[in-house]
Amino acid sequence: MISLEEAGDRIGASLGSMGTESVALNSAAGRFLAAELHSQVNLPPFDNSAMDGYAVIASDTSGATSSTPTTLEICGEVPAGKTFDGKVGAGECVRIFTGSPIPSGANAVVMQEDTERAGEEVRVLDAVRPFEHIRLLGEDVKTGDVLAKTGRRITPGLMNLLAACGHSNVSIGRAPRIGVLATGSELRELGHPLSGGEIYESNRGMLAPLIASTGAVPVVFPLVPDTLEATVSAFCEAFQDCDAIVTSGGVSVGEHDFVKAALVELGGTLDLWRVLIKPGKPFAFGQVDGRFMFGLPGNPVSAFATFMTLVRPALLKWQGAEQTSLPVQFGELRESLINRGNRRHFVRVRIQDDGGVISAGTQASHMLHSLAKANGLVDVPPETTFEEGASVAVQRFDLD
Ligand code: AMP
Ligand code: MG
Repeated sequence: MISLEEAGDRIGASLGSMGTESVALNSAAGRFLAAELHSQVNLPPFDNSAMDGYAVIASDTSGATSSTPTTLEICGEVPAGKTFDGKVGAGECVRIFTGSPIPSGANAVVMQEDTERAGEEVRVLDAVRPFEHIRLLGEDVKTGDVLAKTGRRITPGLMNLLAACGHSNVSIGRAPRIGVLATGSELRELGHPLSGGEIYESNRGMLAPLIASTGAVPVVFPLVPDTLEATVSAFCEAFQDCDAIVTSGGVSVGEHDFVKAALVELGGTLDLWRVLIKPGKPFAFGQVDGRFMFGLPGNPVSAFATFMTLVRPALLKWQGAEQTSLPVQFGELRESLINRGNRRHFVRVRIQDDGGVISAGTQASHMLHSLAKANGLVDVPPETTFEEGASVAVQRFDLD
C-alpha cells in the first residue's frame, strides 16, 4: 500500500500534460489558461459618463441649487457608441448617456435627476465637482496589465474581463475525454424494475458531473457485468474514444473483480493499487498505450472519496490547472472526530453557516445519506482524535 501523496505524484508523472489548444474565448469557460494574458486595451478605453445627464464645465455649475439653478445651453447630444465632434464652451452643455465619451471641453457630468429640461436649455439644480460622474480612461485596467496568470481557471467573471480587454481567442489546456464505466452484475439502469439481489447503479451519475466540474469531458458507457470478457471489451471500446476511463467497482480481491485483470489482458500495466486512505483503499491506476485507467472502488462513498482525493487533482493538473486541491475553509468541530485506524480517514462533514462542523452521519462506505448531506471532507490522520471545539480544515467540495 502506498501513501496518498505518493499515489498522486505517480499518477501526475504518468499523465504528464494534455497539451494546449487555442479556442474562442466563449468556448473556454471552466478551462485553464496555458499562458499569461495581458490587456490589449485600456479599460475604460476613453473617459466616459457614469450617468445619463449633461456633460458640463464643472465651474459653470458652482452655486447651483434647486432654488438658484444655473441655466446652460444644450449644444449637442452624444449617444453611447458615438463621439461629439465639437467642444463644450462656457455656459454650454451636451446631452450625454451612460457610457458615452465625454465631449472635449467638458470635465463633469450633471445627472439627469439634478436637472430640469426647458427646450434647448437645461436648468442645473446641483453643483458638480470636476470629474464628477466621469469614469476615467484606464482607471480599471491599463494596456499591457497582467489579466490572469498561466493555470488560472476561466470563470465567468474572468471571461468578461478577457472579452473587455480584447481577447477573442485563448490558449488553454486541452480537455481529456473521460469514459465513465460501472462494473457489477448486480447493477441495473435507473427506471428498470429490480430483481432479487439487484441494485440501482448510482456511481456514473455522480462521477460524470464531478468530471465535468474539472473541465474534462465525461463520456458515459453502458453497464459492465462481472466477467473478464465483458470488462475487456468495455475497456477496449472506451479507450478507443477516451483519453482515460474512470471505472467503479471490481478492484477488490474478490473472484468477480476483473478491472485489474482486464487492463493486463489488454496489454496494459497496473501502475498502482491500494492507497492508505479510508474510504477507498482498493483504488487502482494503470495504463494501456498512453490511455489511462482510474479504478475506483464500487461503494459509492469510496468512489466519491477516491475521486476527490486522487482523480480530481489528477484531471486538473493534466489540463494545466494551477490550483488542484479543494478549497479549504476552517471551522469549529461541534463533535469529536476519531480515527482509530492506520489509514488517513477522509471524514464526510457538513460545515454550517455559523462555521460549526458536524459529521455528516454514519461514515461506513455504503451509507449514502451522509454523502448527500456532506459539503466537505476532514482529513483525520491515523490514530488521531480531533476534539470537539477544535479548529479543523474542511476541504469543501461544493464550491465549484
Ligand atoms: P465492488 O467494489 O465492486 O466490490 O462493490 C462494492 C459495493 O459497492 C457493492 O455493494 C456493490 O454492489 C456496490 N456498487 C458497486 N458499484 C456500484 C454502482 N455503480 N452503483 C451503486 N453501487 C455500486
Ligand atoms: Mg463489484
